Amino acid sequence: MTASRSRGGPASWPVRQLPRPMIVVLVAVVTGAAALVVTGAVLLPADRSTGAAALGALGLVALGVLHTELATGIERVRRRVAHASYFDLSSVWTFAGALLLPPALAGLVVVGIYGHLWWRVWRPAGAALYRHVYTTGTVVLAAYAAATLAAPERLTVASGAGEGSMAAGFGALLLAMLVYVLVNQTLVALALSLTTGRRFAWRGVLGDWDDHVLEGATLCLAVLAALAAMRQPLLVLLVLPPLLVLHRAVLIRQLEERANTDAKTGLLTAAAWRGRAHRALARTRRQQGAVAVLILDLDHFKSVNDGYGHLAGDEVLAAVAGALSAQVRDVDPVGRFGGEEFVVLLAELPGGPPGRELAHAAAERIRSTVRGLAVHIDAPGGPLTITDLSVSVGVAVSGPDGDSLDELMQVADYALYAAKRAGRNRVRLGRRAVTEPGPEA
Ligand code: GH3
Ligand code: MG
Ligand code: MG
Repeated sequence: MTASRSRGGPASWPVRQLPRPMIVVLVAVVTGAAALVVTGAVLLPADRSTGAAALGALGLVALGVLHTELATGIERVRRRVAHASYFDLSSVWTFAGALLLPPALAGLVVVGIYGHLWWRVWRPAGAALYRHVYTTGTVVLAAYAAATLAAPERLTVASGAGEGSMAAGFGALLLAMLVYVLVNQTLVALALSLTTGRRFAWRGVLGDWDDHVLEGATLCLAVLAALAAMRQPLLVLLVLPPLLVLHRAVLIRQLEERANTDAKTGLLTAAAWRGRAHRALARTRRQQGAVAVLILDLDHFKSVNDGYGHLAGDEVLAAVAGALSAQVRDVDPVGRFGGEEFVVLLAELPGGPPGRELAHAAAERIRSTVRGLAVHIDAPGGPLTITDLSVSVGVAVSGPDGDSLDELMQVADYALYAAKRAGRNRVRLGRRAVTEPGPEA
């Protein structure tokens, strides 16, 4: 599938500024793909089976074109809710081509569908041509590789109709899927690392779980489309409605992400944070460890607004949010509780005093990071830098301070008020903080 490529690819590669290794890879992929397709097509026998395959290839291109035309409606809605680039599921047709056709014709199906995509989607969007050519080259190579592994006979065997073991036929299909995905993703990750200068990482190739689910679903539809095509080509049209519904699933995923994200700070919303915190708490309980809940409130934040305006205040909130996220691990959800208040859950801590010490140290680290922040702002009256920020932090650790999320939040909240009373810019931990004496602020 081309999903991760369309979303993750470098948005604008000025061709002349491409790093030299990227130019080498680009030329190698494109000439390699072209050479394979051209020599493969020339070597095809001039007989009836080639004629039938060519007709099949044309049919797949036609379906791909129809699909793109229908999907542009969904895409228009999607782009209204998110500034994301086109998401295409055309691997339904390109992978079906790989299963049904000789490799060279499978490559030509890709060229046909991607040519139309360029004309209809990418060119009007102002995309760089060579980027799309590279993408086309990677999909041609992926389809070619998959087609050499999965001939139509294998598909017949997997469907239980041909001679041979069904398991072996199925194995060949799965292998073809894997190769298709790996060739694609590896070349995309390579281009990303060469253009951004970041190190090539297999993590980038593997992508995230949601992408796999979509990709798997698309390739499964491709297998069904190929099986239908072998029986009765018109049946392939039945793949279109579920494919369009799948396309809407991408939209739903994006809306979900947006609903869970606080627009001003990029942190989780309070509700989304609760969900993640509940899950982290349950996971930690199973592992018999501890969690800590931190509630943070910026000190005298009203004076930032009064002194520099609300827009500057917003930038300070965003800077504090960035600092918070940078100070905790990926497993620790960070949310905006409301206004200038934040919540953090430290997951997977050891139980007993060591967990408590770690939680205290993390809260102290966050406090001193916020204290050291210098937020640069391009204000209408000229650039300014806001410093001397501070935050008060209340901490509760599971076990001594409670077991449920609500209990922990209650204790952390009391502890936060104790920190405020004690003079602000400090951390207070657990139940003892509540009864601690301190001057009223
Ligand atoms: P304290 O140390 O007692 O917490 O003092 P404070 O001024 O931070 O607390 P107070 O509750 O009096 O004021 C919170 C301020 O946060 C008031 C409100 O205008 C501001 N605020 C809340 N949400 C936002 C926001 O989204 N953007 C901006 N710029 N300000 C916000
Ligand atoms: Mg407050
Ligand atoms: Mg405050």
